[in-house]
Amino acid sequence: MSSWLQKQVNERPDHPVFYWQDEIWSFAEVGQEVKQWVDTFSMKIPNKEKRIGLFSRNSKEMYFSILALWELGKELVLLNTQLSIQELRYQLTDAKVNQVVVATESLSFFAKLDFLTVIEMVQPENSVLSTSETTATYQLDATASIMYTSGTTGNPKGVVQCFSNHLASALATQENMKITEADCWLCSVPLFHISGLSIIIRQLVLGCSLRLYSKFEAKTVTEDLADGRGTVISVVAVMLRELLEHYPKNGYSSTFKAMLLGGGPISPKALEKCESYGIPVIQSYGMTETCSQVVALSFEDAAKKIGSAGKPLTGIAIKIIDANEKQLEPNNVGEILLKGKNVVRHYLNGEQWQTVKWTPDGWFKTGDMGYLDEDGYLYLVSRLSELIISGGENIYPTEIEHVLQEFPGVKEVAVIGEPDEKWDAVPVAYIVGAPSITAEMINAFAKQYLAKYKLPKRVYLCHSLPKTASGKLAKHRLTTIEREAFLNK
Ligand code: ATP
Ligand code: MG
Repeated sequence: MSSWLQKQVNERPDHPVFYWQDEIWSFAEVGQEVKQWVDTFSMKIPNKEKRIGLFSRNSKEMYFSILALWELGKELVLLNTQLSIQELRYQLTDAKVNQVVVATESLSFFAKLDFLTVIEMVQPENSVLSTSETTATYQLDATASIMYTSGTTGNPKGVVQCFSNHLASALATQENMKITEADCWLCSVPLFHISGLSIIIRQLVLGCSLRLYSKFEAKTVTEDLADGRGTVISVVAVMLRELLEHYPKNGYSSTFKAMLLGGGPISPKALEKCESYGIPVIQSYGMTETCSQVVALSFEDAAKKIGSAGKPLTGIAIKIIDANEKQLEPNNVGEILLKGKNVVRHYLNGEQWQTVKWTPDGWFKTGDMGYLDEDGYLYLVSRLSELIISGGENIYPTEIEHVLQEFPGVKEVAVIGEPDEKWDAVPVAYIVGAPSITAEMINAFAKQYLAKYKLPKRVYLCHSLPKTASGKLAKHRLTTIEREAFLNK
């Protein structure tokens, strides 16, 4: 199979496909530039090094490095630039990476990791003559990328994403969102995350173009959307809220098609605002293990299925099971299981996970809880690991969190279960908020909205809450001695 990039270069060489700051690149120009990078990398990286780490924020260099290393048949270990040195060391050791391509600005950070060969991510000299032969890459069963999960529920797991997984994901998105080569996808989410990398894959497979940003800035993105410089954008909830604050008087360009929202739920208030502005938001559910979205809720369905993550994309099957692995009828909450070509088959070094996360007949156990309604729409309720069973009653922390979040001055809330002799477990709340807030105030407020067994038995006032490198709440760290570090003194 020839390279996906080569195919695009052959079929539509002049199609403008990559936008970076003021530069515009056609497929032919991207192909030419990638050859230069391939030459440079093949001089610097020994053939035997199959797996290469990449550490950079979004940049033109990061984009070309990814494409060039794939041409060379390498497996890319995409590293989150927010990782602490310990987390980075863990991932590099777990993935047995010896060589890492690093953005110039981060070279000093890597000085502490002296077991690595560090290659600076710099633009090749134009004078380099392209001589190297690229391997026949993009083999469907080959590993394209290894990406660690966010570590929200524990140690991050290395997800082994094959080209076939990425291909299935791109094709499902094409069908769901009617993506054509005329589309331009704005990428201000990180390329080291599946939300960003999947945009490169769509570009290679579907031929749409990509406008890359070094980071998300609501003002710039708003101007680009208003001026028709993008038809689709991927966002997470915080980005969407900022975009709403900057929404232009005359709206976005009429060519704007969709805002793909992933990563987590959106508040009904923000969604209402999108509706009043006429912003076509597609809510979606997915994870690192599914190589991007697997369930999506169209703009048209949003009003009639409030709170739903949507319907499975083509090629994705969903079932809900109970603790005895029995499939549940609609409207019953259980664990969400997924099957489809974009779902990965194993974790890196993850033998201990194989039977825990995959059933013998190939279903992936997401660890998320939810239910399907009678029309097949999925609703997410909680993470299985966060479920609190108190005196035999199921308590979903998000329900309590949504209530406490409404108390004036509350900035952040995390509700978790604490062991209890009488009830097995009881909910407790960790709150970051105005200094005037007391536990008594929170209790009095919660009583108005929550049944007695759902009331937090203890309220801990905190100055901050533990987060993962991707900014998600890491509740599991509140169950260790580490929690002391977050409490107000
Ligand atoms: P880890 O697996 O290491 O604990 P993680 O699950 O947070 O970390 P990701 O793959 O980045 O790592 O995130 C996927 C998870 O994000 C999903 O399993 C789900 O829990 C949550 N999520 C994704 N989309 C949504 C959504 N629309 N609504 C609610 N939660 C979502
Ligand atoms: Mg996960």
